[in-house]
Amino acid sequence: MENEVDREKEVQELKARIRAVKEQLAALEMRVGNARKPRSMQPQWKAFVDTEKCVGCGMCVSVCPAEAISVHEQARVDTERCMGCGHCVQECPEYALSLQPLRVLDDHHRPFARRLQHVG
Ligand code: SF4
Ligand code: SF4
Repeated sequence: MENEVDREKEVQELKARIRAVKEQLAALEMRVGNARKPRSMQPQWKAFVDTEKCVGCGMCVSVCPAEAISVHEQARVDTERCMGCGHCVQECPEYALSLQPLRVLDDHHRPFARRLQHVG
């Protein structure tokens, strides 16, 4: 029984990891696609925290080269500082961080954006 629970947990973690990798891949593909557009038309990539997942462990803070993350019960990203490097996305054990293009979020993903913590 315990083995089954462990296995189920492993499966869930693997699925979450796959989702995170797919998100990053999609972000990269969009980034490459946008690279040829004039700079003013390129969306800015920023890290966002899903407040339903973040447990406030703070592991993302030390990997951020821009010192853009602070944690007060949950992580917050200063979008002015965030360079969109994605290091924090890789580090988060809860898969609570993702890179989001600001313009797409603004135009098309408002319901999802409301679930995200956006400080900037
Ligand atoms: S590593 Fe993830 S869970 Fe931990 S504080 Fe950062 S965003 Fe939250
Ligand atoms: S994407 Fe990079 S710069 Fe932005 S918060 Fe994460 S680690 Fe810091």
